[in-house]
Amino acid sequence: MIIGAGYAGLSSALLLLKQGWQVTVLEKNDQPGGRARLWEDKGYRFDMGPSWYLMPEVFEHFFESIGTSVADQYQLTKLKTHYQVFFEGLDKVTITDDLERTKALFESFEPGGATQLAAYMDEAQYKYDTALGEFLYREYRTVFDFLNKKVLTKGLTLGIFQTLDKFVGRFFTDRRAKQILEYAMVFLGTSPSHAPALYSIMSHIDLKLGVFFPEGGMNGVARAMADLVTARGGTILYDHEVTALTVAGGRVTEVATVKGQFAADVVLNCADYAWSETQLLEKRWQTYNESYWKKRVLAPSMFLVFLGVNKSLPGLEHHNLYFSADWDKHFDTIFEVPSWPDNPCFYLSAITKTDPTMAPPGCENLFLLVPVAPGLDDTDQFRKVYLDKVLAHVEAVTGIDLLGSVETLRVFGPRDFEADYHAWQGTALGLSHTLFQTAVFRPGHRSRKVKNLWYAGQYTHPGVGVPMTLISSEVVVGEILKAHRGH
Ligand SMILES: Cc1cc2nc3c(=O)[nH]c(=O)nc-3n(C[C@H](O)[C@H](O)[C@H](O)COP(=O)(O)OP(=O)(O)OC[C@H]3O[C@@H](n4cnc5c(N)ncnc54)[C@H](O)[C@@H]3O)c2cc1C
Repeated sequence: MIIGAGYAGLSSALLLLKQGWQVTVLEKNDQPGGRARLWEDKGYRFDMGPSWYLMPEVFEHFFESIGTSVADQYQLTKLKTHYQVFFEGLDKVTITDDLERTKALFESFEPGGATQLAAYMDEAQYKYDTALGEFLYREYRTVFDFLNKKVLTKGLTLGIFQTLDKFVGRFFTDRRAKQILEYAMVFLGTSPSHAPALYSIMSHIDLKLGVFFPEGGMNGVARAMADLVTARGGTILYDHEVTALTVAGGRVTEVATVKGQFAADVVLNCADYAWSETQLLEKRWQTYNESYWKKRVLAPSMFLVFLGVNKSLPGLEHHNLYFSADWDKHFDTIFEVPSWPDNPCFYLSAITKTDPTMAPPGCENLFLLVPVAPGLDDTDQFRKVYLDKVLAHVEAVTGIDLLGSVETLRVFGPRDFEADYHAWQGTALGLSHTLFQTAVFRPGHRSRKVKNLWYAGQYTHPGVGVPMTLISSEVVVGEILKAHRGH
């Protein structure tokens, strides 16, 4: 029995089906994808969550491990322009798939920038190869599994014990160079001054490995996976919110849903970990109680706006980013003094630049994302004020006149993450990737109190992001197979 039909639930289902297990997935919402859901209105089709398809080899590895391939499941396009960056007070730049061009750009930022970027990228590649080869696809049961000799020696060269902003500062002084190398920390739910330098692997991922677009967007991949679950004999029951887990003799025996009870042999929970532990289990069966979650550093929530615009917007690329001059102020509103940011950094996606079918002909499908602190007040009244402010800000930054051409608009904020996914305090990404929330320090894949209860997904190792959730499923299914041999 799997709870949740997000990427973790669907990938785990496929891995277990491949081993001949009988699988039922219980999902609260009415469609697959979890945070990668789809919202359709007036001919616009919005990817509600992830939009960057990164680390293609992880997807390839996953589909091969279930006996198929990416090419058999969906078409993948490599983007020529990875993204465009608007810098406050400075000219905008584009990052392309041509690394030599990116080096020349860095040289234009500061003398020696090209050589420095080459050196930085060599280190990032080394870290990426080591992380993928030795750290990500493995289970950490105790702190000693993590703090072994290899990690301690390699950890130094991998930059586990140093922060990313210090590491980047060794190479560059120019603000633009630093921001391009650090922005992706938001993808990991952290800030450059809290993230271990290990996460410079993100620059290898986005500058070198490339940015891709799957047919139908990220929701398209989730739908392809859901279809495969059904085609291979699994069952996905939508609108089946799980309301309680009955434990007897240290095992889950029954899963209660809004539509009835299900007997269970093994339960793999891929729904939000914090909510599940504190709400589905009696206190005595909780490995991580409420006070544990209160002490965690949560990843940001998000203020999202989906906009259908009935004209073409030539000034935008598929992926667009805006970095304010003093972005620490924005990070502080997320991690230090929770509040709504005044001059927010933002991400603006125009999926129609690559796939015009996501909107009616001649129109653009926009997705605006402002990372904000979890747990903020998110009332109707405040939303309206903040929405007007943010849209005026986007128009000023991009020089694009949007407001007169909006055909459809939907805001999705912290309170929606809580209501739709049971996200703890409305966090969009679960737990932040600080050093003490990495690997063994993330909540475990197996309950320590309930023998047949397991967890996968973004709260667990290796963490946040679609590729990471695929890896978490692979790790946890490996452990389930070992623990429940002969099932
Ligand atoms: C706006 C946004 C943008 C992002 N951008 C990117 C990106 O560009 N690239 C990238 O790789 N990653 C990105 N991410 C992160 C990525 O989407 C997530 O890390 C990943 O999708 C998490 O998958 P999951 O299966 O762990 O959780 P989820 O997708 O949240 O799936 C959990 C599922 O459990 C269900 N559920 C919850 N409670 C219950 C219950 N009681 N009973 C039954 N079902 C329940 C939920 O409805 C949900 O379907 C983004 C995330 C967000 C929110």
